[in-house]
Amino acid sequence: LSTDAEVAKREAESISRKTLRSNAEKFEFQAEVSRLMDIIINSLYSNKDIFLRELISNASDALDKIRFLALTDKDVLGEGDDTKLDILIKLDKEKKILSIRDRGIGMTKEDLIKNLGTIAKSGTSAFVEKMQTGGDLNLIGQFGVGFYSVYLVADYVEVISKHNDDKQYVWESKADGSFAISEDTWNEPLGRGTEIRLHLRDEAKEYLEQDKLKELVKKYSEFINFPIYLWASKE
Ligand code: ADP
Ligand code: MG
Repeated sequence: LSTDAEVAKREAESISRKTLRSNAEKFEFQAEVSRLMDIIINSLYSNKDIFLRELISNASDALDKIRFLALTDKDVLGEGDDTKLDILIKLDKEKKILSIRDRGIGMTKEDLIKNLGTIAKSGTSAFVEKMQTGGDLNLIGQFGVGFYSVYLVADYVEVISKHNDDKQYVWESKADGSFAISEDTWNEPLGRGTEIRLHLRDEAKEYLEQDKLKELVKKYSEFINFPIYLWASKE
């Protein structure tokens, strides 16, 4: 005997990472965003480490935002673990998933759709142009499109997010022109914040090494004002 939740969880786990959840709502990336993602996923750029800098920076921004709101309304922080303003990086060696989770402001369904795909920022086309004329991918963050650097190391990415004003949602994409959004009925409730799960490409397995991650987190956390924890599954 099993509960509906257990069944849903098993279903979620059995979904092939090559297909987006079939009952999800599908969206096309804005054309310029799609071009940008093509460039990133096909890039031969060797300094792929920078994706972690971008994710830590986004987590830190999201934590800044909730901390700012809490100055005038401390209830926004919720209670228990939700009040902890921190970043957790997890390695699942077996499933080849690297995830980064923050207890920041989170994204509503509308935020996920707008911020991660349908609204191109002014920097998007500027960056695409730069890349086509031999620009340095390392500058991606300065163009306001750092998130998409995840596709330097992953071929499938899930963004799970919970904002105080909405339910928990999952954004997912294989960077093939479209993304999908579903209400999250199978993962653990986040409370508040965002978890980004990178399903690593075979060539990016080095990011499952604890020592490598430790070194990178140390490098990129220097100017981050929130604690960052690294958690690795047993070999
Ligand atoms: P930038 O950080 O320069 O705005 P990014 O491409 O890194 O550009 O991120 C795009 C947007 O996605 C952010 O502006 C933010 O609204 C949203 N976002 C990304 N990561 C997170 C996160 N961890 N928590 C909340 N919002 C996020
Ligand atoms: Mg950013």
